[in-house]
Amino acid sequence: MDRRVRVRFAPSPTGPLHIGGVRTALYNYLFARKHGGDFLLRIEDTDQTRFVPGAEEYIIEALKWAGIEPVEGIGFGDGPHAPYRQSERKPMYKQYAMQLIEAGHAYYAFDTAEDLEGMRERLKASNVDAKYDAITRSTMKNSLTLSEDEVGKRLENGDPYVVRFKLPRKEEVKFHDEIRGWVSFNTAQLDDKVLYKSDGMPTYHLANVVDDYLMHISHVIRGEEWLPSAPLHILLYRAFGWEDVMPKFAHLPLLLKPDGNGKLSKRDGDRLGFPVFPLNWLDPNSGEKSSGYREAGYLPEAVVNLLAMLGWNPGNNQELFTIEELTEAFSLERVSKSGAKFDQNKAKWYNQQYVRKLDNKALAPILTTALINEGLASHFTAEYVEAVCGLVKEKMSFTNEIWDISKYFFQDPSAYDLGVIEKRWNEKIPALLHEIKSEIETVEEYNAAAIEGVYNQALNNHGIAGKDFLQLFRVCLTGIAGGPPLFEIANLIGKAAMRRRIEHALQEFSK
Ligand code: GLU
Repeated sequence: MDRRVRVRFAPSPTGPLHIGGVRTALYNYLFARKHGGDFLLRIEDTDQTRFVPGAEEYIIEALKWAGIEPVEGIGFGDGPHAPYRQSERKPMYKQYAMQLIEAGHAYYAFDTAEDLEGMRERLKASNVDAKYDAITRSTMKNSLTLSEDEVGKRLENGDPYVVRFKLPRKEEVKFHDEIRGWVSFNTAQLDDKVLYKSDGMPTYHLANVVDDYLMHISHVIRGEEWLPSAPLHILLYRAFGWEDVMPKFAHLPLLLKPDGNGKLSKRDGDRLGFPVFPLNWLDPNSGEKSSGYREAGYLPEAVVNLLAMLGWNPGNNQELFTIEELTEAFSLERVSKSGAKFDQNKAKWYNQQYVRKLDNKALAPILTTALINEGLASHFTAEYVEAVCGLVKEKMSFTNEIWDISKYFFQDPSAYDLGVIEKRWNEKIPALLHEIKSEIETVEEYNAAAIEGVYNQALNNHGIAGKDFLQLFRVCLTGIAGGPPLFEIANLIGKAAMRRRIEHALQEFSK
């Protein structure tokens, strides 16, 4: 019988979550939902030296913002395998380290930092790859070289030790990766990894494998950077005798810099002006700031959509997907083996598509906040603000641009695009503007079509071509050269604002 699908996102709280991590969480989430399984969040905080305060909260908030919600785990409610934070599971790991020692798959090592350094120096001098392995272990202070008595004494004394995995010397470890196909490693390339320390803390490898086992994980879907750890993990499953419940592995391709040259990093984002983190972050240790998608005006649905497409494709041309559609379409078979280049313009394009689809009512609070900051909120009705949103959203890529591109709906222009004025203003313009102004006063029903009618009639009367005048008229009314349909703007700002703005332009530019 097939196992129930259970997958996990297992970040270490060592800093803000990179968007590559968000993508890993997303693929796990989609995979779980697609197969009616469970997606859980486990915090892997066994390396206390790398712990960063606030990082765990950041991870939880980022997943909530993106709508990638686990069904079990820290921040999302305990499930049957609580606790989900490895530091709280600390007492569970010792027995597993001991089990491996008893079965001859691991051993105690008492080497000091100097001993290890000495070994490295020695091996380097003879041009040998310096690692603690099947060959070097016989020259070190461990339970394979020391007498049983000596080992017993040291343990009794409370001498610090680590437990190392006893790697087979030269063995081909072959496994089937759901994305990469057959992958093989020779244990000669690896070293006897530390699994457990005498302070009672397991290392990543032991805790990760033990927890995946205890939490009944069926598929390990994680970043490519963990591929080199997979053979050790597989050997651990074998050593424990858990091969029959070993999860399937799927290593996701890297997110690459826009030029494809290496892994996408914070520095690329800083240099090229785009976020590589979901939310803003202030590093409590270094004081360094990192910018986030949320604060940059991205919508979570857009970020989810664009991340889904970085490394996976649906096999057709569809680019826009809701999370439900992604769940339906997602499969590991369509995840690519090669790295996915981050494309800043495409990211912006995705956001634009989602901003345009936003309901005016959903956008209005963002604009209202800006109006409050400007001290203008009380002058405008909710309907007016929503109508403005409806007009400008077509022109926006990011929600936080809304005030900048809609200011002129709320205040008369105080500056004008002078390039346009210089190019288009001539001695015929004042009379034309006067006529438009006075004719507008006479229209019975003030609306976009009526304004356009007045405008066309006036142009006709003055023998001026529309294409020469429209942009100038726009600059007179709004101050800037681009924007939503002009007669819609004129309609919304109303008769009185039209009058004022035309008068003001006449004063400014008629000499
Ligand atoms: N704690 C590891 C990380 O930070 C987990 C890797 C895995 O998923 O096995 O990504």
